[in-house]
Amino acid sequence: MQVKLIDHTQNPEKVVAAAARLCYSPLGAMEIMDNFVPEQVENFLAKLTELGHDSPLEHASFTFAVEGISRACSHQLVRHRIGVSFSQKSQRYVKEKQFEYVVPKSIQKKDQAKLFDKVMADLQKQYEILLVAGVPAEDARYVLPNACVTNIVITMNARSLHHFFRLRCCERAQWEIRELANLMLAEVQQVAPTLFAKAGASCETEGVCYEGKMSCGKAPTIAELQK
Ligand SMILES: Cc1cc2nc3c(=O)[nH]c(=O)nc-3n(C[C@H](O)[C@H](O)[C@H](O)COP(=O)(O)OP(=O)(O)OC[C@H]3O[C@@H](n4cnc5c(N)ncnc54)[C@H](O)[C@@H]3O)c2cc1C
Repeated sequence: MQVKLIDHTQNPEKVVAAAARLCYSPLGAMEIMDNFVPEQVENFLAKLTELGHDSPLEHASFTFAVEGISRACSHQLVRHRIGVSFSQKSQRYVKEKQFEYVVPKSIQKKDQAKLFDKVMADLQKQYEILLVAGVPAEDARYVLPNACVTNIVITMNARSLHHFFRLRCCERAQWEIRELANLMLAEVQQVAPTLFAKAGASCETEGVCYEGKMSCGKAPTIAELQK
């Protein structure tokens, strides 16, 4: 899988801090932007996190190019509905000639890998038979597997990213979307290190786990803390 941050709000941290500062200031955002120095931005962002004042985070957006994830992974990804936009390679308009596929590590042992490759090759063959028979690509794709590789562009605002990282960097998330979330987190930390200093699974950022009985045990669960 390849993940690259291809664009983002210019000065994301300054914009978020200015939007937040505006709430507590007689000044307008233009004046705040002109006069904010980097230390003030940093202090303000830290204060926001402390207060749980999250809505200013919605003013900064980040756009990622993601290549080589499976359709199983993209299906989980697009369940995130709020503050997020997706554009995904279409299987209606782009025929899956020689489709690539993701092989999970658990299937990489010799015999299983062989079986898996055979199933993929069979599906490719059947798909092409359907196309040759005149079945439109939008219908022939029904035989394609979840493993089939896809490309997608994702734009998320910083608030939604924090939520996404909390759910998907967690050990409980499935391995492929967890890998994707971790790569996205590494990308945004490069351009907005303060904004994403405390981003990730709640065990890492808050020292608490919300997964209850499903917890991996890295951090105490809410129930354990309440004992
Ligand atoms: C470990 C794990 C296991 C999962 N297992 C399953 C599974 O077995 N089956 C399955 O179907 N899904 C499963 N999911 C997906 C999960 O249910 C969510 O659909 C997905 O994580 C998106 O999260 P979200 O709804 O919080 O995000 P978003 O859609 O981005 O929503 C963000 C927040 O906005 C609020 N919100 C959004 N829409 C509404 C609404 N309609 N009404 C009220 N509030 C709203 C909620 O507070 C929500 O948390 C799993 C996710 C994880 C992380």
